[in-house]
Formats: sequence, structure tokens, C-alpha cells
Amino acid sequence: MKSAIRDAPTLCRQLGLPDTLGRAADCGFPVFAPQSYVRRMRHGDAHDPLLRQVLPSVDESRQAAGFTEDPVGDHDSQLQPGMLQKYAGRVLLVTTGACAIHCRYCFRRHYPYSGGPQSGTQWQPVLEQIAADTSVEEVILSGGDPLTLSDERLKELTAGLEEIPHLRRLRIHTRLPIMIPTRITAGCLNWLSTCRLTPVVVIHANHGAELDATVAAALDRLREADVMLLNQTVLLRGVNDSLAALSDLSERLIDLRVVPYYLHQLDRVRGAAHFEVPVERGRELVRQLRDALPGYAVPTYVQELAGQPSKQILFPDPQVKK
Ligand SMILES: *Cc1c(COP(=O)(O)O)cnc(C)c1O
Ligand code: SF4
Repeated sequence: MKSAIRDAPTLCRQLGLPDTLGRAADCGFPVFAPQSYVRRMRHGDAHDPLLRQVLPSVDESRQAAGFTEDPVGDHDSQLQPGMLQKYAGRVLLVTTGACAIHCRYCFRRHYPYSGGPQSGTQWQPVLEQIAADTSVEEVILSGGDPLTLSDERLKELTAGLEEIPHLRRLRIHTRLPIMIPTRITAGCLNWLSTCRLTPVVVIHANHGAELDATVAAALDRLREADVMLLNQTVLLRGVNDSLAALSDLSERLIDLRVVPYYLHQLDRVRGAAHFEVPVERGRELVRQLRDALPGYAVPTYVQELAGQPSKQILFPDPQVKK
């Protein structure tokens, strides 16, 4: 994290690109890209799909109708600071605002992180609310990225969760196994494998080129610790909006024993309109993917709509009549 690149000119220079490329205003969301990720980008290619995820664009300051600060209704689903619930049986904890990468399309790029719990004792009201609701079976650690917290902080938080008898699963939404694979340390594995709750780790890879040998090794370690591994991808214009990119990503994930879980339609967050792929194009891509790959390699194409009881499935389209 300390050696991560934090400004666009440095990033461009390191890749042999003119530093004028990243001259866009950062709109309050600075560049952050770890060296281990930058090393997987193609030198001298301004259109590299990994670079596009982290390099600010002048398009970010363009106003686009329907693109807002809180596109998925996080504010209205907050039960208390740091705790969201939208769906039955699952609550989501915003454990930190820090990430190992700043994804330009991030749906929480404007999220007011500073209001949430910062330390062990500050989580107490959240633990009490979960304990009081026996319908909750799963806690999702999200953020930000929960694996930017130390193992000690994570252990402390989950020790409190483990004592709640009706909890069964601990889900971790993280990009760290992709961004800084060495984060999956012996201590981290020990935390997951000794936890009473069934561990599910959902990684976030958008392109096959993200999955190099260092990532494979991190995922191997997680699997050996009996962690269930799923992936979520955001459909992004100029990154993975082609059959070739999506099928390569799915096949590489399966080789690494990771199930492609969700393909997300972009959340309409202010500053990210240039990443949007029309839903019709997305449906066409997933239809083609379905024709090309085994069923288990095809992610469910979903969209999060504020106020709905689950993520909405875009493909297979439940509305289609034969
Ligand atoms: C996406 C999301 C979940 C998880 O949904 P699944 O369909 O179970 O993957 C849970 N809570 C919130 C607030 C979410 O946004
Ligand atoms: S890792 Fe996730 S939370 Fe962090 S910037 Fe990227 S999309 Fe946003």
C-alpha cells in the first residue's frame, strides 16, 4: 500500500506514456494503484484495460443525466452508521473506506465513509443489532476493502460476530487478492480457517490479464484454507465489453477454481457515465457467452436497483416469451 502510485503523471511515466494523458482533475477521488497491479499493464498501451480502471479521464467531470452520488440507495438502507441492509438474511458492514485500488467507476466513490465505526468498541451497537435479529444468517464485510484492515482488527470484529448464534456465514467482498496478492498471508488464512462461520470470499476481477501467477497463488492459498471463492465483475466499456474479454476472464477464473458469480451492470454513479455499456448490449454479450461456455462459467448478469428485494437479473431475461 505504501509503494502504490498516487498520481496520474507517475503512473503514465512508468508505463512509457505521455504524462498529459492523466491530466484530468481527480474530482476528489485521487489515483491509487499498487505496483503489483501496474506491473500487469501493457507498457506503452494507453488503452490497456487495467490502466483504464485506474487512470482518471476528463469524462469524469462531465454531467450525465441519471448519474448520481448515491446510485444504489445506500443512504436509505443504512440501519446505523457502518451497517446496511437491503436483502433478507444478509447485512453488509462498511468496515473501512480504504481500498488497494481506486476504481474510477466505483459506486461508492462519493460514500461518506467518515461516519462509520473505526475501532472494536465502536462496532458494539452493530453487533447488538445483528444479535437482536435472528433472521440474519450472513454478514458481508465490505467497504472500501475489508482486507486493508489488519488481521488483528478483522479478528476482533469477527470474534464478536462468531458469538451471535444465528449467524452462519461470513462473506468478504475484496479486490485485495487481485491487487496485492501477498495480502493473503498465513495470519489471514488462519483467521479465516479458524472462524466458526462459513467463509465465502468474493473477489472482483474485470479482465483476464488481472489474473497472473501471483494471483493464482493467493487464490490457491484461500482454497486450501477451505474458503469458497466467487468472482464479481463490472461490465465496463473499453475494459471487458467484448465476448473475447468476458470468455477469457471466465475461463481463467474456472482454471483458478473461482466461480464467476455476478456480472454487474454499471451502477450509475456520478463521474462514471463513460464506462456504461447499454443493457441491450450486455444481454447480447451474455447470450453469446452462454452459447460459447459451460453453464457454470457464465455469470448471472445483474443490476442493483434501489428499493428492490434482490439484485435484478438482466440475463437470463425472465420477461422473455417464446
Ligand atoms: C449486493 C448486496 C448484497 C449481496 O447480494 P447477493 O445477491 O446475496 O450477492 C447484500 N447486501 C447489500 C447491501 C448489497 O448491495
Ligand atoms: S475496490 Fe471496490 S470499493 Fe474499492 S474502489 Fe474498487 S470498486 Fe470501489
